[in-house]
Amino acid sequence: MIPLHYQHDKDREWMYLKEIEKGRRKSYLKDIDDKCKEYLGLNFEEIVLLPPDKLMEKKQQYDMNPEEKKAWITKEFRSILKADNRYIENTLYGDMPSSARKIVFDTAKVRTCPYCNRNFIQMVDTEEKAGEREFKSFFELDHFLDKGTYPMFAVSLYNLIPVCPSCNRIKSTQKFDYYPYHFANRSDDLIFHYMIKGVDFLKDESLIEIELEERNRKIISSVEGLHLKKLYESHKDLVQEIAGKVMFFGEGYLQSVCGQFPALFPSEGEAYRILYGNYYEAEDFPNRPLSKFTRDIYEDSLASGFRREDDKPLK
Ligand SMILES: [Zn+2]
Repeated sequence: MIPLHYQHDKDREWMYLKEIEKGRRKSYLKDIDDKCKEYLGLNFEEIVLLPPDKLMEKKQQYDMNPEEKKAWITKEFRSILKADNRYIENTLYGDMPSSARKIVFDTAKVRTCPYCNRNFIQMVDTEEKAGEREFKSFFELDHFLDKGTYPMFAVSLYNLIPVCPSCNRIKSTQKFDYYPYHFANRSDDLIFHYMIKGVDFLKDESLIEIELEERNRKIISSVEGLHLKKLYESHKDLVQEIAGKVMFFGEGYLQSVCGQFPALFPSEGEAYRILYGNYYEAEDFPNRPLSKFTRDIYEDSLASGFRREDDKPLK
């Protein structure tokens, strides 16, 4: 799980709202606006652009309603001018222009899936259609608050998380506690470790056990819901490569190449990237698949001198 960083950008948010509303009938938008005011105490524009902390606050307020009232409000938001037409989910969200999806993507500032950090996600500029730029998405949008339970947040900017299609399909309508935009999230809320069950582990990957340490209780439902442990077990070959390099080169090697070739490797982070094929700094984790895993396995290898089954966890 890679945390997303919220940065208020009034112009971008405003542009998103315009794209969502563009070409939509005024009468429909007015009905949505009226319902937002009546049931949520804010207008539609405010609901669409709720900053992450306010979105979660509003969700909690809404959740406190009695079940019957929630069922009524849900029905109301699914029936914009007509009974059960699901206008917000099917039209505003389902038929969202690619330019709006582009803003969601740019807002998240990620190049890999923030749920698994195993797949690239991307948006490419293709052609102009009717004088407008067209973008193709190589990702899907997850409604962190699922649109079945919360149709009113179906186009809220910070409720939409660009993720890889596999994670989106697996998550489906599951409810996760770990909200990617939460300000208190840290990249080390989840840490990967490995344990060695035999000396031949560099040749035999069945002698490697992958362990996931959840340092933030909230992340547990996501780790389990997305089957991250099972998924990462398929990357034991990477553990072999990293551990092998650490064994061969050790930590001192990075420092020595920096000292010898300062123009090529201005920092140990740069030397690490060349040697281990990935980024070292947490701020770069969103840029490349498996970057968090690679860094944790590297650190584990350095710190442990290769752990044994009966060793205590190190961190
Ligand atoms: Zn994913």
